[in-house]
Amino acid sequence: MSWWTTDETHDPARTSWVDSANGHVDFPIQNLPLGLFAPADRPERIGTAIGDKILDLKACADAGLFDPLVVQACQQPGANALLGLPVGRKRALRRRISELLSDPDYRNIVENKLFRAGDCELLVPARIGDYTDFYVGIHHANNVGRQFRPDNPLLPNYKYVPIGYHGRASSVRPSDVGVRRPYGQRKGPDADAPVFEPTARLDYELELGVWIGAGNALGRPLSIAEASHHVAGFCLLNDWSARDVQAWEYQPLGPFLAKNFHTTISPWIVTADAMAPFRTSQPSRPEGDPAPLPYLRDDNDQRHGALDLTLEVFLHTRRMRTQGAAPFRLSSGPATSMYWTVNQMVAHHASNGCNLSPGDLLGTGTISAPERSGFGSLLEISEGGARPLTLPNGETRTFLEDGDELILKAQASAAGYVSIGFGECRAVVLPAT
Ligand code: CA
Repeated sequence: MSWWTTDETHDPARTSWVDSANGHVDFPIQNLPLGLFAPADRPERIGTAIGDKILDLKACADAGLFDPLVVQACQQPGANALLGLPVGRKRALRRRISELLSDPDYRNIVENKLFRAGDCELLVPARIGDYTDFYVGIHHANNVGRQFRPDNPLLPNYKYVPIGYHGRASSVRPSDVGVRRPYGQRKGPDADAPVFEPTARLDYELELGVWIGAGNALGRPLSIAEASHHVAGFCLLNDWSARDVQAWEYQPLGPFLAKNFHTTISPWIVTADAMAPFRTSQPSRPEGDPAPLPYLRDDNDQRHGALDLTLEVFLHTRRMRTQGAAPFRLSSGPATSMYWTVNQMVAHHASNGCNLSPGDLLGTGTISAPERSGFGSLLEISEGGARPLTLPNGETRTFLEDGDELILKAQASAAGYVSIGFGECRAVVLPAT
């Protein structure tokens, strides 16, 4: 079975005996994302979200409900071992979990292994060895490039190389961990020298996160056809950015302290198998663009390698929360605005023999739609701070202020299938100290 074909776990008629799962916007039985959670005052363990509950997969393993390889993986810290299982094993586990949560005959032995999600802490699901951030959102690259180089927004390598840089794994946090406004060097255009102060241009970046499954040995590249076997799943990722620090520091070696002070991810890993119905073709390149070099070109990847997701960003300021106002939607757009597919990012990353490991995290780079209503950062929405945004309560923003809460959401939909969501990626901006 290929990575884009479906089975009984995607059957829209399948329901769960966990009532809240049926019709759940994010976690119906067709999703079954993997995560790491800690029930109140108890140690962390691996689980799957089902409706407003979490199924304790370690408890299921201990009860002998899974095969021995899965049992072993569930006993490891974090989801790394589980993510690193061969594709066929992971698919078998998904079918087994789906069976346990849909067949009423299992209710007696499984129900006592469910926790109310609201009572649990959700953690970063894997021990992230390495985190790499790409730059494949072409409209974002154009919008930002135009601010710096009006006549030449995209550098000549962009349409040949999936551009990326190595990020910092130590500062990746799950939803609901506050983001401290960082200090940094910034220099005004007319100033003689920089100052070291809290950033005045704190921004978010709407990205997808990609969780690596099985790794590759050092010196052993992955072909574009193999790459899909190494993608375990997806999450939402907010690459918090200090734009004034970034503008001063980024040349000649690229982003550094403007980016590594905090990265927020949605805590559930929506598996590659769960996304099978929501695969779509990679948009064809504009006339005149070069074809990908052969090591990045695969017909199946071009036909099925993009993701049919709607991405949304919401802003909930402190005053809006005090007033009881709903979060304001900053943007909505598709995940297909990526110049390169996820498999191309993975194949390129390993093309020089660089070894990827289970639980490594890739960011796609900011995903913006062509229109302002789908821009994935305030840098683009406010045109570099020149065009403030007015919120429904009269507040204005060019960049984020202390107390602002940023919320990313993703919804996958396809005709004939039950929609699934990613859960939220949210965090509040805390004042500099
Ligand atoms: Ca980024």
